[in-house]
Amino acid sequence: MRVLVFCLFFPLTVMATLTTQEKLWGKTGHRVVGELASQRISKRTLKKINRLLDGMSLAQVSTFADEIKSDKRYRSYNPWHYANVKTDETYTESEKNKAGDIVFAIQKCIETLKNPLTSRADKQFYLMLLVHFVGDLHQPMHFGKPSDRGGNDVKLKWFSRKTNLHRVWDSNMIDDYGMSYTELTANLPKLNAKELKQIAQAPLMVWVNESHDLGKQIYSSLPENKKLGYRYSYHHFKTVRMQLLKGGVRLAALLDDIFK
Ligand SMILES: [Zn+2]
Repeated sequence: MRVLVFCLFFPLTVMATLTTQEKLWGKTGHRVVGELASQRISKRTLKKINRLLDGMSLAQVSTFADEIKSDKRYRSYNPWHYANVKTDETYTESEKNKAGDIVFAIQKCIETLKNPLTSRADKQFYLMLLVHFVGDLHQPMHFGKPSDRGGNDVKLKWFSRKTNLHRVWDSNMIDDYGMSYTELTANLPKLNAKELKQIAQAPLMVWVNESHDLGKQIYSSLPENKKLGYRYSYHHFKTVRMQLLKGGVRLAALLDDIFK
């Protein structure tokens, strides 16, 4: 993956040309998922990952899949960040995007990473993508309606600023909470070992259905005046924190399995 190497050496160039970021947890959310996973993986997995990522942290690489969106050569990966599903159907019943979607992407990353014939460069690339997509999958608006592009076309006011429903869930709530990614990671819900184990062992389709169900609740609880602020955060930020926790816990379990 020579293009990848190019991007890694010129991150500033890539960052400077970033265009509108539509389908993403904001950077903080992705970093929380990566950071939590790196705290939960086994020492053995951590050692292998450190070697494969040349010392870059999971938090650091968690935003890579969004950063490459500005590079035409990676355009085919754009549909991998989401799977828009109608409210009256499940993901399984929904018409799949032929160009791939987030479920396909995660399966493809796992398969590639587990294959002993995969080159080191490809392993690095797909690991960086996997960290990102597990994060995206836990942002419920990544399973929003196709008719409004996962909430991107639901125009709203966040305090006095113009925004949309997708962005409220990606970044507005998280950014306004005002914690760095390390602070937020340290302040996720505290669950007991049994609850954490249950989260970690849930299969991929459970993650998908949880996100889709949350997405439906988000649509139905939208205030009529479309003005969101403190009250909205008060009601919904606990869902954001729980989804970030689940993302990190599941990513760690997945990585321990892949690198066992
Ligand atoms: Zn994304």
